[in-house]
Amino acid sequence: MSPTPTLADWQAKAAALTANLETRAFIDDEFVAAESGETFATINPATGEILAKVASCDAADADKAVTVARAAFTRGSWARLAPTARKHALLRLAGLMERHRDTLALLDTLDMGKPISSAQSDVSGAIGCIRHQAESIDKLYGEVAPTGDDTLALVLREPLGVVAAIVPWNFPLMMTAWKIGPALAAGNSVILKPSEKSPLSALYLASLAREAGLPSGVFQVLPGFGHTVGKALALSMEVNCLAFTGSTGVGKQLLQYAGQSNLKRVYLECGGKSPNIVFADCKDLDSVARHAAEAIFYNQGEVCIAGSRLLVENSVREAFIDRLLAAAESMQPGDPLDPASFMGAIVDRTQYERVLDYIRQGVAEGARLRMGGKPQAGPGLFIGPTVFDDVTDDMVIGREEIFGPVLSVFGFDTEEQAIAMANDSDYGLAAGFWSQDIDRIMRVTRRLQSGQVFVNNWAGGDQTVPFGGVKQSGNGRDKSHHSLEEYSELKSVWMSLSS
Ligand code: NAD
Repeated sequence: MSPTPTLADWQAKAAALTANLETRAFIDDEFVAAESGETFATINPATGEILAKVASCDAADADKAVTVARAAFTRGSWARLAPTARKHALLRLAGLMERHRDTLALLDTLDMGKPISSAQSDVSGAIGCIRHQAESIDKLYGEVAPTGDDTLALVLREPLGVVAAIVPWNFPLMMTAWKIGPALAAGNSVILKPSEKSPLSALYLASLAREAGLPSGVFQVLPGFGHTVGKALALSMEVNCLAFTGSTGVGKQLLQYAGQSNLKRVYLECGGKSPNIVFADCKDLDSVARHAAEAIFYNQGEVCIAGSRLLVENSVREAFIDRLLAAAESMQPGDPLDPASFMGAIVDRTQYERVLDYIRQGVAEGARLRMGGKPQAGPGLFIGPTVFDDVTDDMVIGREEIFGPVLSVFGFDTEEQAIAMANDSDYGLAAGFWSQDIDRIMRVTRRLQSGQVFVNNWAGGDQTVPFGGVKQSGNGRDKSHHSLEEYSELKSVWMSLSS
């Protein structure tokens, strides 16, 4: 392809790619059909076409993969490998991802409808994560505790064993990397269960991991449904840790499965309903309006940290909403393969109907529909930017995670009121605000109940900075050395020294 591929380039590459997709599970270094022989269809939501029939793993495949993963861990061909050697293997994987970046991006675009430009950013994020975790692993030291002269007390970090990573469909490759990067770097055997709505990039990644030389059984991929293979992994007595990104409802189920089985660690990255607060003293209404529109409409609103609750100081509300609507108008969905598209298709018909139901409910609840609300005609699942104003905190559209391109706008008069409204949520994944007053910035930052706070930006982040939520948005932290710590145990060693 040319250095900056066009729509036609992507279409040609897509046609070649879909003729030759890997659809089988990856277990013990081999691509294999599900034990049951069952498959499920994965569908391109932009066209309605079946892309492939993918192996539908269940409990039998989970048992097989867990046995293989445990054996690999016990053998120690990865877990006891010198950290520097693990680093080099993961850097090889990152290098292969770099070489195959167009294919990886294309698989996510075809599978779940996101624009190719976003998918390319996701691939960069995924590669960056694998590289960062790989580079960290041989720079972490254990501890010598400050005990007396007659003892030597060491605090060692050891891998957990078998980690099952269960991920969603909205950032298929990137969420995968956020889990497997640190879990593999720490020396664990990892079983990945991608979403049934977007399994293809995970299977492609498996072939790259094999080429990178990861030992057999250290990284396996089980496509299939949550209530079958996902549940079996979560209930397994031989899985030591569940690394989960997905909805709060499923996160709660996983905690129960851990309690019913072996008390495995459960790290949860769950849903959100994130407040984005515009104070009248912000720097530039035009620029903030553009950012506020991107904060909700990026990735069709299928973003855990979407700025889905927009709180605007009443004194500038009308002026702000005019600008917001103008910005949103320019973000209409288009062909996901077109590099110029900002929004693509909704992932599948279930999610599409769910979003449309919320829109109908918003109208019925009396919120004021200022833009959108209607799907585009045709076989593709497209919903344009939708903006509701005059939303109140008792409305369902103002409280529940819609996970689509629907923005709820609230008005407020005082800082105190804005903080109370922002915190009035079961969720606490992200919160942001726009202001030029440094005293206010410090006050509001401290009081927002949220895993991350964005000040005069939305969705800022880096591999060096942890990502995760509070309240019912979860308990885990992806990225940075904090995530690496989650995938290891502390072992305390007490040595008595004779004089
Ligand atoms: P989901 O909870 O329906 O599914 C997530 C994963 O869990 C899928 O792989 C699914 O197959 C699996 N699963 C479902 N039921 C299961 C069960 N009983 N046992 C084991 N596994 C099961 O979520 P989704 O629709 O794929 O993704 C959307 C959700 O993910 C939204 O709530 C979004 O906010 C959240 N999310 C959170 C973050 C974050 O970092 N906090 C990032 C992305 C998405």
